[in-house]
Amino acid sequence: LGAAQQQREPKRDILLGGLLLPGFDEQSCASRYQSVYYRKNMTRSPAPYLLDRLREQEALQRRCGPGTEPYRRASERLKSGQKYSVMDDTAVDGGCGYLVLLSYRGLGNRVLATVSAFLYATLTSRVLLVDRGKTFADLFCEPFQGATWLLPLDFPLEGYRDLWEGAAESYGNVTLRNDTGPASQHRFVYVHLDHAATPANRLAYCDDHRRSFLRRVQWVVLRTDSYMPPSLFLNPAYQEELARMFPRQDSVFYLISRYLLHPTNDVWGRVTRFHGSYLKNADETLGIQVRVFDAATPPQNVLDQILACTSQEHLLPGVAATAAGEAPPLPTTADARPNKAVLITGLNGWYHDRIRDMYWRSPSADGGLVSVHQPSHEEVQHFFRTMHDKKALAEMYLLSMTGKIVTSGWSTFGYVGSALGGLTPYIMTKPGRKQEKVPDPPCRRAMSMEPCNHGPAYFECTRKEIHKIIDTGKLVPHVRACEDMSWGLKLT
Ligand code: GDP
Repeated sequence: LGAAQQQREPKRDILLGGLLLPGFDEQSCASRYQSVYYRKNMTRSPAPYLLDRLREQEALQRRCGPGTEPYRRASERLKSGQKYSVMDDTAVDGGCGYLVLLSYRGLGNRVLATVSAFLYATLTSRVLLVDRGKTFADLFCEPFQGATWLLPLDFPLEGYRDLWEGAAESYGNVTLRNDTGPASQHRFVYVHLDHAATPANRLAYCDDHRRSFLRRVQWVVLRTDSYMPPSLFLNPAYQEELARMFPRQDSVFYLISRYLLHPTNDVWGRVTRFHGSYLKNADETLGIQVRVFDAATPPQNVLDQILACTSQEHLLPGVAATAAGEAPPLPTTADARPNKAVLITGLNGWYHDRIRDMYWRSPSADGGLVSVHQPSHEEVQHFFRTMHDKKALAEMYLLSMTGKIVTSGWSTFGYVGSALGGLTPYIMTKPGRKQEKVPDPPCRRAMSMEPCNHGPAYFECTRKEIHKIIDTGKLVPHVRACEDMSWGLKLT
């Protein structure tokens, strides 16, 4: 907001109940302290214990992160190939351990992975270092004062970006080799929690940080495209800590994202300009996130599904039949006719054009005005292109600023758009393979604002019978099968 506008705004708690610290440079990352003005009041507030853990994590990042002596020694060891147990000389190294997050897949996946990795690093007291890939540093500001979360460009582990689950160092292979005893030493361990990981690799969800071999490993490299927290809540080793950090289980993404994710000025400028031009003055706003995974799905079916959903849930008015030549009503004062702004996001502009046309051709059934807006239509998904990713991130934030939201089932883009805003979405059922019909029901209200974990463990952590598939959505309250994917898990 401009200075004059900010003066008119009621005073807001820009530090978000203590999630954020004062003292960051406001100019270099405007979103950090400005985002509060674009959002509803916090619907979940941070527990004092969560704030303590965040401050501890920040101190750890400063004490052990890049630029420090412990980091230099740890990366020397990694470079020289030395096998090592971090417990051997805690006096020398202060027990610094590291979690390196590898970046891959679409931006929604990468955002979920970043939030997951931060929580996992905090739970296991490791410094989080994010592999920036080609675009990460252009998307997000540094979250910690006096420390960086970016993996240094001279990170010495050769070929680390190519690690995959077959690697000898993968958690699954280390466990299958039984190389986990009290005397085991590892140069690093690779944790592969891709949504399609093997059961052995998913055992990492069950790691007990206090007792297992992994706590002795100084370098852990994590690859995930998934939202890990629902599975971490199933691990008895973390349950107590998580309950103290998040007395409301459905607040995990909401609170961590507000703490950790601050779009860079360029992204934030796109967000605020679009918001100011098209959303700010509407009486009501609706976000519709369209993601079509299967090119064979007829676009008309998806449009029919969107309209069936918005009609079923009373999110958009229908259009009134008018006789040819009928005179439109006289203009009335702005107050008399509520206006609704619809934000559509998608790779394709067709849905936007059809819905906008609908309200251009005919008046809405309730007499209100409906305006329809779409920031971009990139046509196809690209990987690691800065401008493409910036647009996607800006659109996720814009979705999060709407009042109500319809998202596409299975889409991590949609999960992020709704969860960032603390919005419980109406999730459209993903069309089946045959595609010929609009799914029935077209959409349903989600149980919570939390994202879905697409690749959880299907076994009980205490039993570790990894090939015996059980319904992990029934083990503990507040971890349930997702609305849009029966084998996924989400916090409620
Ligand atoms: P998912 O594939 O739906 O789970 O979401 P991801 O975000 O992981 O990957 C989809 C990628 O396609 C995004 O990161 C964007 O690059 C692109 N994309 C998909 N939908 C949109 C959209 O609505 N707007 C923009 N700008 N890009 C999109």
